[in-house]
Amino acid sequence: CGIVGYVSRTCSPRPLQIVMEGLSRMEYRGYDSAGVALAHEGAPGDPDGPATGGLTVVRAVGKLANLRSALEQADMPPSRSAIGHTRWATHGQPTVANAHPHVSRDGRLALVHNGIIENADALRAELREAGIVPVSDTDTEVVVHLLDLAFHDAGTPSWEGDLPGLGGEDLRTGRALVSAMLAVTPRLQGTYTLLALSEEVPGLLVAARRSSPLVVGVGEGENFLGSDALAFAEHTTDAVEVGQDQVVAVTSEGVVVLDRGGRPVEPRHFSADFAH
Ligand code: GLU
Repeated sequence: CGIVGYVSRTCSPRPLQIVMEGLSRMEYRGYDSAGVALAHEGAPGDPDGPATGGLTVVRAVGKLANLRSALEQADMPPSRSAIGHTRWATHGQPTVANAHPHVSRDGRLALVHNGIIENADALRAELREAGIVPVSDTDTEVVVHLLDLAFHDAGTPSWEGDLPGLGGEDLRTGRALVSAMLAVTPRLQGTYTLLALSEEVPGLLVAARRSSPLVVGVGEGENFLGSDALAFAEHTTDAVEVGQDQVVAVTSEGVVVLDRGGRPVEPRHFSADFAH
């Protein structure tokens, strides 16, 4: 069970490479399935970029080798960002449908989770009443639907802070995703590291944690997230700790750590130097 995220300034094959490499480094922890999601944007003027924006999700049961062959068969576009997950099933069999990332109904928002959502049954019942029928047996899937509802609900209390490097429509959409994470996490009981990625704002990763680890790796023009600093230690030793019940927004240009009320918290840096 491990989580990796990566976001950069430019569109390239690197996000997928970094995420797969990070998952390999955490393989020793054990897992039964794995998956990745890439967010790409249509890149007019960039002949190497994908023609249209979108979210591409690939998942496989078993070893990372199985995910690698599934990725070879899928035509993976270059992307700005990516998230990855290795799953140790707690709710639902190790199947492709139960593997993470889980996606919203429109397929535009992806979420990975380590931990257990203890009130998943109650939340699932609530979603059913809203007409949302789960497609997996996991406790995690309820979270992506709740997040998606809050993301697109104008009634969600809005967080108005800055997201380094994002402006205009991207900033508005990014703030809505951060607002959604701040609105949904207090409703969850149990333990979690959550990491979300939306094709609507491919230059942003939004994550949260409670009683489950999450660290940010600070790069230049690129940033990393991991459930363990080992996931990115080869690329940067400058790491930021995410505290209990905090939410973090990561773009290629910066890291914004927030308390559960959405107030900015001074990032606590530490050195993730595994060579010493
Ligand atoms: N409880 C989630 C599931 O069963 C996440 C498990 C994990 O931490 O990998 O899918």
